[in-house]
Amino acid sequence: MRTIIIQKRRQAVFIGVLCVALIGIASPASAAIHIYTIEVDAALSRMEVVARFAAPANAISARSRDAGRFLLDARDCDNGDQISNRGRRLTISGNGIRCLSYAVDLRSAAQADQRNDLLHASNFLVTPTVWMWRPRLGGDDEIRVQFRLPNDVQVSVPWRPIKTTDNAYLLNASPQSGSAIAIFGHFDSSVANIAGTDLRIELLRVAEDIDAAPIVDWIQETAYNITLAYGRFPNPAARIVVFPIGNTPWPSDSPVLFGRVVRDGGETVELLIDSQQPMQSFYEDWTATHELSHMMLPYLRAEQRWIGEGFAQYYQNVLLARAGRYTENYAWQKLYDGLERGRESVPGLSPNAAASGDERNSRMKIYWSGAALALMADVELRQRSHGKESLDTVLDQFQRCCLPSQRTWSGAELFTTFDSFLELPLFMNLYRQYADAAGFPNVRPLLGQLGVAVDDGEVRLRSDTELAEIRAALTAQRYTGGPGK
Ligand SMILES: [Zn+2]
Repeated sequence: MRTIIIQKRRQAVFIGVLCVALIGIASPASAAIHIYTIEVDAALSRMEVVARFAAPANAISARSRDAGRFLLDARDCDNGDQISNRGRRLTISGNGIRCLSYAVDLRSAAQADQRNDLLHASNFLVTPTVWMWRPRLGGDDEIRVQFRLPNDVQVSVPWRPIKTTDNAYLLNASPQSGSAIAIFGHFDSSVANIAGTDLRIELLRVAEDIDAAPIVDWIQETAYNITLAYGRFPNPAARIVVFPIGNTPWPSDSPVLFGRVVRDGGETVELLIDSQQPMQSFYEDWTATHELSHMMLPYLRAEQRWIGEGFAQYYQNVLLARAGRYTENYAWQKLYDGLERGRESVPGLSPNAAASGDERNSRMKIYWSGAALALMADVELRQRSHGKESLDTVLDQFQRCCLPSQRTWSGAELFTTFDSFLELPLFMNLYRQYADAAGFPNVRPLLGQLGVAVDDGEVRLRSDTELAEIRAALTAQRYTGGPGK
C-alpha cells in the first residue's frame, strides 16, 4: 500500500514537471492536449500508464481487438475506482474521467507477436494498438507522451519526437493505414540529416551483433534520392524501421523482401531485408525508393490506391536515374516494361474498379495506371511552362500545404488540390478521362514523341524527336553531394 502511495506521489510530481517542460510548445487554441506518462519496468515486462485528459473523456479505446487481453488494471486515477473494459473499449459511466491509469502486460503482448521469434532477446517489438488506450483525436488534438525507461533501454515509436526532451513524443490523428510497431530494448538507432530533415533509422537486432553501418548508409542514400524530386524530404518526422533477416526461407530476386508505409500516429517505412545479400544489390534495388516515394502523397482511399502506387512506380525509376543508380536507358526500359504490363492487365476494368475489387491479376493495372498519368502530367507541365513547372513543382507545393496529412484523401480531392497550384487545370481532366474508364491510358504516342523508341521490346533512346529534351531533363542526374553533405 505504502509503495503505491509513494508511486502515485512520484507520478504526480513527474506529471507536474512534464507540464512545465512542455509548456513552451505552441498549439492551436482549440486543440485538446492530453498528457501521457508511460513507465516500463526493468524487466520490460510491464507498462504503467498515466493519462491526463484535456477534458473529461468517456470514449476511450485501443485500436486492436486484442488490447483487452493485455490490460491488467485500469482505474480513474482521481478516485482510484476500477474501470472495466469490453473488448477494446473502456466502460466509463457518467460524465467521463479526467485521469486514467492503467497497466499492460507488455511481455504477453510481445509474445503474441510472432515477429519477435526472429529477434535477438535484447529487443522486441509490439504495436501501440494493443497498449495505447486513448480518446479519439480530432483535428489538431494531440497526445504528448513521455516515456520513463530503465537505464540504457531505448524505445522507438512512430510518433513525432519532441526534440528538446528525451523519450518524449507527440501523437496526432492519423489515417491509420495499418498497425505501426514500437520497439523496446537495445537496437541500432540513428538519426540521419537528409537535406535538413532528421530522419530516424531503426535497425531491429536479430543477432548479438550485426554491422548496421552499411545498411544505414544505404537507407541514407535512398532517403536522399527522394529529395531529388524537390529538394526536401516530404515528411520531417518520418521513421524507417529495418528488419534484417538472414538465410530467408523465401527465394527472392530482391534483397528487400517486403516494404510498406504505415501511417499510424506518424509515418513509418518498414523494410524487411535479406542481410546476407551483397550491399551493392541494395543500391540497385527499387523497393526502398518506391516505399519512400509514397510519402510524397497522402494516404488515399482504397479505390484510388492506383494513384499512390502509380506515382511511386513513376518516381522510383525517375529518382534512381537522377541519382545515377539507373542509366537513362534503363529507367525508360523499366518504365516502358511496366506501362506495357499495366496495359495488358485486366483491360475490361477501370483503375478505380481494379483498385476496389479483389481480382488478383489486377495488380499491374493498379501499379501502372497512375504511373501513366504521372508521366502524362509531368510532360504536359514541362512542355507548356517551358520547364518551369513539372510534377516535381506540383508535389513541392503540395508538400508545403498538406503534408504530412492526418487523414485519408480521395483521388478527386488530391487532383483538385494539385490543380489549385496551376493556372490551367490538368489533373482533374486526367482523372475524369481515365479513373473510371476501362482500358489503359495510351501512352505509346507520347513515348514516341519523347524519343523512347522500342524495337522488339528493347528501348532505344533517340534525341531527334520533338520532346526528347523533356525526356532528358526528366531523368537528368541531379546528384548534389549526397546525404548530410
Ligand atoms: Zn507501393
